[in-house]
Formats: sequence, C-alpha cells, structure tokens
Amino acid sequence: MHIVISEFMDRAAVDALASRFDVRYDPQLVERTPELERALATADALIVRNRTQVRGPLLEAAPKLRVVGRLGVGLDNIDTAACAARGIDVIPATGANAQAVAEYVIATAMLLLRGAYLSTPDVAAGRWPRTALSEGRELAGKTLGLIGFGGIGRLTGRLARALGMQAIGYDPALAADAAPWRDEATSPVTLETLLARADVVSLHVPLVASTRHLIDAGRLATMKHDAVLINTSRGGVVDEHALANSLREHRLGGAALDVFEAEPLKAASPLADCPNLVLTPHIAGVTRESNERVSAMIAERVAAALSPA
Ligand code: NAD
Repeated sequence: MHIVISEFMDRAAVDALASRFDVRYDPQLVERTPELERALATADALIVRNRTQVRGPLLEAAPKLRVVGRLGVGLDNIDTAACAARGIDVIPATGANAQAVAEYVIATAMLLLRGAYLSTPDVAAGRWPRTALSEGRELAGKTLGLIGFGGIGRLTGRLARALGMQAIGYDPALAADAAPWRDEATSPVTLETLLARADVVSLHVPLVASTRHLIDAGRLATMKHDAVLINTSRGGVVDEHALANSLREHRLGGAALDVFEAEPLKAASPLADCPNLVLTPHIAGVTRESNERVSAMIAERVAAALSPA
C-alpha cells in the first residue's frame, strides 16, 4: 500500500511507516502541486500538516485515497464533507499538541502582564528602566477567560489554576451543568460576562461561521482596559484591524497572536508596530516534543486505518 507524506513529519514516524508500507516522504511536495497530484494517482493514504489543500483537484487526482492523516488538529485545509462523501477517513492528531499550546498561553500571559521581560536591549545599553517596569502584574489571583472549552481550553485552564488563577469559560456546546466545568473547577459564563471579567482572554475555538470575527471592535471595547488577549486558535476569529486600533489607543493591555487571517502575515499589516503585541508564526502547538507525539500518533492511526486488525 502506498502513502504520500507532503509536509514535514518526524523521521522516526516516517521510518515506522516505511517499514510496513511503500512511503513517499517529501516535506516540500506541498509546494509542487502538479507533482503532488501525480504522486497521489496510486496513493491509499496522504499525510499532511496545514498547508496541503486537501480538496477539489487534489482529491480528484487521488482515486484510491482511503485515509488522510493530519499532523495537527485544525481541519480547515481539508474538505471534510468531500472526504466523507467518498468514504475517506480523516484522522487528526487530537490532543498531541495541547500541552505546547497551553504552555504558550501561560508564557505569553505572564510576559504581557509583567511587561518586564523585553528590557534586554535597554539594560545592555546601560539604561535602567526600573521605574517604568515596576507596575508589572502577577498571574496569581487573576481571572482567565477561556473561549472554547475543548481539549486545549481545558488543559490551559488546568495549568492556569495550578498557578493560582481563577478560570471562567464560554462554550455554547456545553450545558452549564456539564461535567467538564465541574471537573476543571471552571465557571461557565456568557461571552459578555467573560469579556467583562477576565484579565486574560484566551481563544480555543475552531474557525466556523459563528466564530468568524467573534472578537470584533464591539467585543474588544467591553474588555478590561488592561486585559490581555491571546489567540492560538485560528486567524479570522479576531478582527485584526479592530485589535490593532485597541492596542494603539491603549484600550487593551496587550495581545499575543499565533494565528492570522492570512498566513504568512503581510509586512504592511495593521498589526505592525502595535504596542504590547507578541506575534509568532503559528508555532504555539509546535515543539520538539509535540512534533514527536503528533507524528507518532498519526503514523500509528494511519497504519491502523490501512490495515485494520
Ligand atoms: P476542540 O474541538 O477540542 O475544542 C473546541 C471547542 O470550541 C469545542 O468545545 C466547541 O464546542 C467550542 N466552540 C465552538 N464554537 C464556539 C463558539 N462560537 N464559542 C465558544 N466555543 C465554541 O479543539 P482544540 O483541540 O481545543 O483546539 C482549539 C483550537 O486550537 C482549534 O481552532 C485548533 O485548530 C487550534 N490549534 C492551534 C494550534 C497552533 O499551533 N496555534 C495548535 C493546536 C490547535
């Protein structure tokens, strides 16, 4: 059986698959669409990260395809309805990068609340901005607002509570008396209450019609003026223009964005040069450890789907 892997996968996991299947591994194949489509002519399985667009022409080029393995969790680069219609199994690496994302949220929340960790150039240059940096805040005692209370939202809440934060959450798919709220000592609240009360607002929702620009100018205006917003979920959930305005006008304490409406972010983006803003290139879920976990999980699940016991 033939497996095509069109983006980066951990070597040990590729080798594990290659010991049982005919594997074509080329982490740059995603950039060469005609060659990728030719490679798919005989493929039983395709393994991708988030760049390969598994839809339309690519699916048509893969008549034998039975399994798509996704080295991550978001499925917005995969036409899941078209896959379902053809009986193609779509397998995400659910949970395997949650720790990496949750640690990113804690780290950026601490960095933004404290405001002191980026003083290296000043201190090294002989300046001593001690007075300016003396108003930093601690995480303990603050309220974390989790928008989306699935796998990553819950784990982020657990880490935050271990550091002395209180957690509140908003997730319309979970009833107020659903077990996860109790199990995770997190109070379910309305979106309005969450935005008004949280010192740190962290987004953990999929990008769907109901979450597009969920955080827009109107909702940003209802947040505390010194609160911080962290988006590791999907670009498009936050209105970037509105966020840039809030930061420039100091109506928000800061923000960390790992995901953007268009990736890579354009150099002339309205977010350029905003104060108290951390920008990272969609790596919240990507660490050495999570790469290994994600790849091992997908190798195992794709192999099982191709040759069920
Ligand atoms: P999940 O499916 O476990 O949880 C998502 C939750 O969002 C669900 O409980 C769902 O009910 C809730 N939800 C849906 N619509 C909502 C709405 N309108 N308001 C509030 N809640 C809503 O997903 P997860 O594994 O926790 O992942 C969360 C997000 O993080 C996804 O968008 C995923 O793509 C993203 N992610 C990003 C990275 C990264 O590297 N930046 C890594 C992993 C995951």
